[in-house]
Amino acid sequence: MTTNRRFRNVTRTGPIQVGTAYDDRGREKHTAACTAPRCGFSADYDSRAAAELAARTHRCPVR
Ligand SMILES: [Zn+2]
Repeated sequence: MTTNRRFRNVTRTGPIQVGTAYDDRGREKHTAACTAPRCGFSADYDSRAAAELAARTHRCPVR
């Protein structure tokens, strides 16, 4: 499930990393991914704000 996309503007909010990358069609995608072991949360958003909001409000199901 690890795809090596070239992320830029990577920031970290708690265990979540938010990065911006281009998808196959050259469109900007904003991905929020949780780095906590066994969480596995990751999602793409159309806007940076949405991804950062998801990062701030995410709660790990495992702790
Ligand atoms: Zn998590």
